[in-house]
Amino acid sequence: MTTTVAFIGLGHMGGPMAANLAKAGHRVLGHDLVPAALEAAAGAGVVPAGSAEEAVSDADVVISMLPAGRHVLGLYDDVLGPARPGTLFVDCSTIDVADARAAHERAVAVGMRALDAPVSGGVVGAEAATLTFMAGGGEGEFAEARPLLETMGKKAVHCGGPGAGQAAKICNNMILGVSMIAVSEAFVLGESLGLSHQALYDVASTASGQCWALSVNCPVPGPVPASPANRDYRPGFAASLMAKDLGLAANAVREGGVQAELGLRAAELYAAYAERVGDAEDFSGIVRTIRDGNGEQA
Ligand code: NAD
Repeated sequence: MTTTVAFIGLGHMGGPMAANLAKAGHRVLGHDLVPAALEAAAGAGVVPAGSAEEAVSDADVVISMLPAGRHVLGLYDDVLGPARPGTLFVDCSTIDVADARAAHERAVAVGMRALDAPVSGGVVGAEAATLTFMAGGGEGEFAEARPLLETMGKKAVHCGGPGAGQAAKICNNMILGVSMIAVSEAFVLGESLGLSHQALYDVASTASGQCWALSVNCPVPGPVPASPANRDYRPGFAASLMAKDLGLAANAVREGGVQAELGLRAAELYAAYAERVGDAEDFSGIVRTIRDGNGEQA
């Protein structure tokens, strides 16, 4: 079935996601504030719209892929009026759980339907349509969005009510941030004890230390040839994005009064590290900060 989709935010992620919907035969009306992003999407079959309002006015589904919660709430303020009643709003950005719930409320209050559906899989997954979506909202909304999500990705999981998709995203990435620091600290400790990277890898990757941060995104060069450590830590998953996601997790930890000391500490360490390297380094490059002993001051 052909769906008319308004796609707002055609950046690193949104551009290829919108292109994959167009390639699958959907009518995709795209908008981005940056003309170059709009042009690139137009070259991939997306119909460029001069404004978000114009893009949504004829859409069955509005998908957004924006930097942060304030952009999503700003967009909803602009387009909830011009959209047709009952339009399904699917926000795929990674944003604060509280902002996601506020976006749902604003949409539903004016007769729209809403889903939060952040992704994991990065730019490579967006291009190859292998993203994983984690969705929050009603069963009916999820069932309706599912074919579109599965066109842009390989898996879509319904996690619960409004905000549950964002909750799953930040909980997962808190595991990842903490485990990358743990793996990095273990390699640096091993170095100080005269243990080779390969020996520690061979043991831990088949023992109880096994995790994604070790066996797929190994922070030292050698044991996992495809990991960013082997290409001078070019991303991959940029340090700045990990810092952002851990910041969102830390907000939720504080708001919920949760005793998550490692999650909060990981957020601090990644914030300091990302301030230095931004999006130039993969998040596994934090091993060098730990080795250099400048984790505290960084
Ligand atoms: P990006 O900066 O490349 O793209 C965001 C786009 O939104 C930009 O092109 C910007 O011009 C546009 N934009 C901002 N405000 C707008 C508005 N009001 N109307 C129209 N366009 C607007 O960022 P990205 O890497 O594509 O990430 C998008 C979202 O996906 C973020 O929330 C990010 O955390 C999340 N995410 C990114 C990755 C990744 O690997 N890049 C992975 C998972 C999740």
